[in-house]
Amino acid sequence: IDLTVQQDMEKLNHTFPAFKDNYHLIKRIGEGTFSTVYKAEDVRYDRYNNSWDLDARDNQWEPPPPLKTTSNSRTNSKVNPSRRPRKFVAIKKIYVTSSPSRIFNELELLHDLRDSPSVCPLITAFRHSDQVLAILPYFRHQDFRKYYPNMTVPDIKLYFRSLFTALAAVHEKGILHRDIKPTNFLYDPDKQRGVLVDFGLAEREGVDHKPCLCHLDQDSRRQKIRATYALNASHAGPQPGYPKNDTRPSRRANRAGTRGFRAPEVLFKCTEQTTKIDIWSAGVILLTILCKRFPFFNSTDDVEAMIEIATIFGVKRMRQAGQLHGCVFETNIPSIGAQGFSFEKIMLWSTCRSDGSKDNKNAELTDEEKGAVEFLNRCMDLDPSRRISAEEALRHKFLQIDSE
Ligand code: ADP
Ligand code: MG
Repeated sequence: IDLTVQQDMEKLNHTFPAFKDNYHLIKRIGEGTFSTVYKAEDVRYDRYNNSWDLDARDNQWEPPPPLKTTSNSRTNSKVNPSRRPRKFVAIKKIYVTSSPSRIFNELELLHDLRDSPSVCPLITAFRHSDQVLAILPYFRHQDFRKYYPNMTVPDIKLYFRSLFTALAAVHEKGILHRDIKPTNFLYDPDKQRGVLVDFGLAEREGVDHKPCLCHLDQDSRRQKIRATYALNASHAGPQPGYPKNDTRPSRRANRAGTRGFRAPEVLFKCTEQTTKIDIWSAGVILLTILCKRFPFFNSTDDVEAMIEIATIFGVKRMRQAGQLHGCVFETNIPSIGAQGFSFEKIMLWSTCRSDGSKDNKNAELTDEEKGAVEFLNRCMDLDPSRRISAEEALRHKFLQIDSE
């Protein structure tokens, strides 16, 4: 154990005195923007009943029930204690700089999702003044960077079957995760199972929404855009360059998420974001695996992110995507073409099967890969209303595993 972990552990044991009798900290497994996560052994786990005997709503410390040494319903009551299976938990120490409402939001959503498949459940949580600990079952997983380059198409199907199972459950409850990316989906390639973690940025769909043009039909949207332009023109007259007396209301939209994984509607500051933003992010993971490049997008800000997306989709489609949310997309960057490139081409280039020269112009993806690209196109549709839902994705040909 390194010194800082030792110090962390002593601090935790000091803040939560009953802690060390119940959880034995083993090591630090994660350090993010919002928390530090430790692996610990749960010595309270009732190994005979295979349950935690805890009430997730209770944040007061209760002394653990004594381990049952006799059991009339079980035959293994005389198991040698040293041979009992050990139970591990992940202890997420949420930084005190997080606002109380934010911390409450995360714990409440996790509680709502406790029975959802492929979502890491919350066992319990503790609070001591401003310090909050969330206790989750420890989930063995591998680092994405280690396994993604070797994934075959059947491996990819299993991975996304598991991820979309979690997303379907979360979305069914009307919850947006907002931060879908490899470090928040803990996957075990050996067991071919994953769990979704980190609801720190998650929110309920429809909360804090203002109507956005993208929810109107095409005609009403056009009418509304024309009306806005007319209003602007009558107030200030058409002006070259950046408008000085812009009468359009300023836009404020939730941009929470991780760079490279933000959906186009998030970049266009859509004020009525839906669960489809998570599908886009899942699509970015798929694109990463298929192209064997991580991170695939590498922008530092939203404008750069738009440029990256526009390079793939082309100006024409990007302009249409902006219009959905009442935004005008213009660029004079020469490398952004009108039509963009197909994912098929991008995959061939990034896996070095084609450089566009005559020699390998006929390079082709395998049929399996073509199936993956077709699915990718459904996940990375620029129009959120046309993008596939998690529920639909689970029924999509690409995610059918048994029928093959
Ligand atoms: P943050 O909000 O700081 O990103 P996360 O909930 O994403 O916190 O956890 C950070 C990291 O800790 C994860 O990427 C993962 O490596 C590890 N981790 C979190 N929960 C678990 C768990 N239940 N089992 C195993 N590892 C976990
Ligand atoms: Mg995280």
